[in-house]
Amino acid sequence: CQASTDTHDTSFRKDDLPVHGVSEVIVGVLGGGQLGRMLCQAASEMAIKVMVLDPLTNCPASAIAYDHMVGSFDDSATVQEFAKRCGVLTVEIEHVDAATMEKLEQQGVDCQPKASTIRIIQDKYLQKVHFSRHGIPLPDFMQIDDLEGAKRAGDLFGYPLMLKSKRLAYDGRGNAVAKSEEELSSAVNALGGFDRGLYVEKWTPFVKELAVIVARGRDNSISCYPVVETIHKENICHVVKAPADIPWKIRKLATDVAHKAVSSLEGAGVFAVELFLTKDGQILLNEVAPRPHNSGHHTIESCYTSQFEQHLRAVLGLPLGDPSMKTPAAIMYNLLGEDEGEPGFHLAHQLIGRALNIQGASVHWYDKPEMRKQRKMGHITIAGPSMGIVEAQLKSMLKEEGSESQ
Ligand code: ATP
Ligand code: MG
Ligand code: MG
Repeated sequence: CQASTDTHDTSFRKDDLPVHGVSEVIVGVLGGGQLGRMLCQAASEMAIKVMVLDPLTNCPASAIAYDHMVGSFDDSATVQEFAKRCGVLTVEIEHVDAATMEKLEQQGVDCQPKASTIRIIQDKYLQKVHFSRHGIPLPDFMQIDDLEGAKRAGDLFGYPLMLKSKRLAYDGRGNAVAKSEEELSSAVNALGGFDRGLYVEKWTPFVKELAVIVARGRDNSISCYPVVETIHKENICHVVKAPADIPWKIRKLATDVAHKAVSSLEGAGVFAVELFLTKDGQILLNEVAPRPHNSGHHTIESCYTSQFEQHLRAVLGLPLGDPSMKTPAAIMYNLLGEDEGEPGFHLAHQLIGRALNIQGASVHWYDKPEMRKQRKMGHITIAGPSMGIVEAQLKSMLKEEGSESQ
């Protein structure tokens, strides 16, 4: 994809390398989950200082962050206090206090991406309105305020109908499918009722789900990672294949849509663009995350510059790195919590044990304080000479006795 330039004051120039290393600016990250942890890992290679704000004393990032402030990233006073300690403020989760970020920006705090971007993205309905105004292809959608409205949407879009919470959605928690008009009220109840703020989307019978990580530097240069295929199970990301096995034309179309979507948002950083590929070769945007993303975890092993390093480079105004793959293929498998508490660890540990014996496999364990069903606990990436080979390796890892196959 093309790069454009529009020089920003704080951007990095060849001649003004800081005396003491790559950057002396402290990067403040709202959130200290696994994405924050992997940002800290990338930062440590360049001795970049990353501070995280997270309410959990033992959050995944806390052990390796330069500093960890214990507190809520959704509390105004706490975020303001945190911002005072950082040179640039960024996020690893979009469910943060956008109003405070806006206020901080007015006071001169450097937020990347911009608070306006966080505000748009954190409300999935507002996000859809924004992208449709920018001419990005999307599934049809409509706000619903009561059961009558939901029925009207069902008449218009047909069934199954996807109901979604506008806010605080992740890993499919916030989605409910109504297969018929009779199921509408139970789907609404499952999402906590109309007061939570709901909308519907026309069901998209996609042939594949794709994703593109797009990085934007502070000089507005844009750089896109190869298109990947994401495979979801019960609304939650399960496997990522890089690169996606799609024709050249679809790859170009997916990259163009992702580029256009990110161009409509403000600020530096990496953005993940989730897409649907339909039977007739259309690309529709599902949603955008304004941060590193599960679909980009493979980049740690398979690309010259990982999405985490790229995010740091972007927010600090350093030149963007090379997003291309240095291995022909990679496959990522999420380790999800199987059960609450100790029993849930059993399968994950079995898989880790096997992965350690697989050539080209890398194990990531997030060290979350608590195991919960369907919670992302870690992931395994297998990089290798072809998709056929890495797929076969993953299959053998999953197939041995005691575990289900994918
Ligand atoms: P994330 O963890 O990616 O933030 P989320 O909770 O925001 O997930 P979505 O991305 O909206 O949820 O949806 C999760 C999954 O549900 C999608 O990846 C896709 O598999 C399925 N899905 C979502 N919207 C639709 C739709 N309109 N038609 C068909 N399937 C859909
Ligand atoms: Mg989402
Ligand atoms: Mg999603």
